[in-house]
Amino acid sequence: MRTMNSLMSEIEQAKKIVVCGHIMPDGDCISSVMSLSLGLEKLGKKVTPAIDWEIPSKFYEFPHVDKIIPYSEELQLSDLLIVVDASSPDRIGGFQSLMKSGIRTIVIDHHKTNTYFGNVCWVDPKYSSTAQMVYHLLKLLDVNYDEELALLNYLGIATDTGFFRYSSVDASVFEDAADLVRQGARPDVVSRIILDSRRIEEFYLEREALAKLKLCCDGKFAYSYLEKESFDKYGMTTNDFIGFVGELRSINTVEVAMFASEASKGEAHVSLRSKCYFDVSEVALAFGGGGHERAAGFTLKYEGELLKAIKEVIEFIEERLRDSEN
Ligand code: AMP
Ligand code: MN
Ligand code: MN
Repeated sequence: MRTMNSLMSEIEQAKKIVVCGHIMPDGDCISSVMSLSLGLEKLGKKVTPAIDWEIPSKFYEFPHVDKIIPYSEELQLSDLLIVVDASSPDRIGGFQSLMKSGIRTIVIDHHKTNTYFGNVCWVDPKYSSTAQMVYHLLKLLDVNYDEELALLNYLGIATDTGFFRYSSVDASVFEDAADLVRQGARPDVVSRIILDSRRIEEFYLEREALAKLKLCCDGKFAYSYLEKESFDKYGMTTNDFIGFVGELRSINTVEVAMFASEASKGEAHVSLRSKCYFDVSEVALAFGGGGHERAAGFTLKYEGELLKAIKEVIEFIEERLRDSEN
């Protein structure tokens, strides 16, 4: 209660607000940035939506997403920074320098691994998505929803719950989503843009990743990887190929899945997923990243080959998996 009061009073006092999401943005990040920005604009604030990273192209089909800008120095003149869906300062790219300049900062997030890096932090891992937290905040602030706001807000709840499939889904998720649908959100539009708009090159990459798929620990652990050459071959980037780790998890015997994608030589993003009991956020934390119990990730820096570099991660997971069974 005290957190919500401080958060609302910070917002009330500010005129120029930057709402910033995390690097390598996903649906929840883009949804939270855009719906909070539109909501605060309705309250008369001057708001800049911002993400210091390239936005995956399919999200431009949603309204207003083209207004999201990367970090620039002129944003230093703002009164308040609201960071959404990011668990630590290294996740916001250039906006860390805005924080260093001493701007008041609010953090709104649902990651268990959040480091509480703002002046006011509303962090609650019980929420399915940061977008659902934004929905509750905008309701508290008495914001009137229109169709575009409802659609943008629904987007993050749908994507971060795997379209209402994950263990984070409780009755409140359906209630809040239903309210957004009542106010004009279109579930069919969201699922068409997110799920039914895959490029054929994604399938070619999937074919290569499947050829490298390994199953170990009696089929409980599945992993694969792709090097930069593969992405280059099809004119794709790691940004264009993000759902594959979920495919690995969907194998019937699998508890833990890992997929490593090489963004540039010597740097890869590692995505981790689990199904029932294995806490992947602990693995991600051990390698300098973060996330949730069932979905986490980190950036791996290395010299030489990607496969050699991920050996350490593979062994770490195998050991933990064995321990968790004893
Ligand atoms: P991903 O595998 O990239 O889809 O990420 C899964 C979850 O882990 C998301 O909730 C991310 O926000 C989080 N995550 C991914 N990479 C990192 C990182 N480098 N540091 C902290 N959290 C991360
Ligand atoms: Mn996210
Ligand atoms: Mn999220």
